[in-house]
Amino acid sequence: MDFSLSQEQLAVRDVVRKFVDEEILPHIREWDEKQHFEPRVLKRLAELGLMGVCIPEKYGGAGMDYNTLAIVCEELERGDIAFRTAVSVHTGLNSLTLLQWGTEEQKQKYLVPQARGEKIGAFGLTEPNAGSDVAAMRTTAVRDGDSYILNGSKIWISLADVADHFLVFAYTDRSKKHHGITAFIVERGWEGFSTRSIKGKLGIRAGNTGELFFDHVRVPVENRLGEEGEGFKIAMSALDNGRFTVAAGACGCIAACLEASVKYCHERETFGQPIGRHQLVQQMIAKMAANLDISRLLVYRAGWLKNQGLPNTRETSLAKWVACDAAWEAASDAVQIHGAYGYSNEYPVERYLRNAKAPVIYEGTREIHTILQAEYALGYRRDKPLSRRLPAWPFEE
Ligand SMILES: Cc1cc2nc3c(=O)[nH]c(=O)nc-3n(C[C@H](O)[C@H](O)[C@H](O)COP(=O)(O)OP(=O)(O)OC[C@H]3O[C@@H](n4cnc5c(N)ncnc54)[C@H](O)[C@@H]3O)c2cc1C
Repeated sequence: MDFSLSQEQLAVRDVVRKFVDEEILPHIREWDEKQHFEPRVLKRLAELGLMGVCIPEKYGGAGMDYNTLAIVCEELERGDIAFRTAVSVHTGLNSLTLLQWGTEEQKQKYLVPQARGEKIGAFGLTEPNAGSDVAAMRTTAVRDGDSYILNGSKIWISLADVADHFLVFAYTDRSKKHHGITAFIVERGWEGFSTRSIKGKLGIRAGNTGELFFDHVRVPVENRLGEEGEGFKIAMSALDNGRFTVAAGACGCIAACLEASVKYCHERETFGQPIGRHQLVQQMIAKMAANLDISRLLVYRAGWLKNQGLPNTRETSLAKWVACDAAWEAASDAVQIHGAYGYSNEYPVERYLRNAKAPVIYEGTREIHTILQAEYALGYRRDKPLSRRLPAWPFEE
């Protein structure tokens, strides 16, 4: 077992940390207050080669390993969840799914510009009546010659108003339930396709979230990802990668809570001593520090499995569940440690708390991951090998 980060990973960590300190943190309070998504951040991430950090070089990426993606996500969320969420959907849910399931033509046309950050990808699974219960979706795709006609809508889609390419899931045969769902690549600008922003969110206010509408959108057959009926499996394999990035981001949230809380513990005095000297405050600090290590270790184990090309659904789900719950608790404790000052946006911890709720809901709610872990432990759930695997790292040239 090797617990050290490589020189390359440390270098990437330093680059993202510097970028966050210089280009996100000075503006984030204003962006958050104004619910402003700043597109320049994604352009800069592309310039730094971070929009396709773990995509093979032959497909326009930086060719680094899956744990480097985790490092990028952790450092981004130390700044703000909005930009980690963007990388999660662009790279985790969309680009890695194209890498795993796409034809060579699809990879050249969609993955290469996404890995370079020239085009942005999003992921449309959730519908007004179908969140945890994916099979309750109503969007349909009906075959018509060399195309499918897509009708329906998606909601709560990160980057809805920003992305150029969308991975969308629809029923091609509702009678087959999960086995009747198919995945498609849809481009912004196609006739009948439109999007709308959702405002008034509790957190991720510097991020873009919205709805997708499909009104008789004609999707060429060559834009079907995988075979008809493989959509559910494709969506779940995408979530293995998306959840990994969410878990990594949660580590960044815990790290930010710990950093802010330690600083405040040294500054604030009560009863004649810094509050860090009070044992009940120490308990909250100790929990944050412990949970940061636990969460990172779970994330890196999942990343190691991905690097080996091994199945990791169970381990990724565990990392996502534990890290996101821990981030929510850390943010709540960080506000507690700051007392009344933590309750205003004079300090960043109130933003951490508002932001930390979404990851406990998206990419599988806390309850869904609890059920998954129980089912694995009880022997009720076993993962079957997929017809296409995410490539192991180092990538073949
Ligand atoms: C900010 C944000 C960004 C998002 N981005 C995307 C995106 O980019 N793409 C996308 O497709 N989706 C996205 N989502 C949607 C997200 O994935 C869903 O919200 C999530 O899957 C939960 O679905 P739901 O909200 O419909 O809740 P529901 O499924 O309706 O669940 C409601 C409650 O019931 C509980 N529950 C449901 N079923 C069970 C059960 N069997 N046992 C016990 N409890 C249960 C849930 O845990 C939850 O507490 C995003 C959501 C948010 C908030």
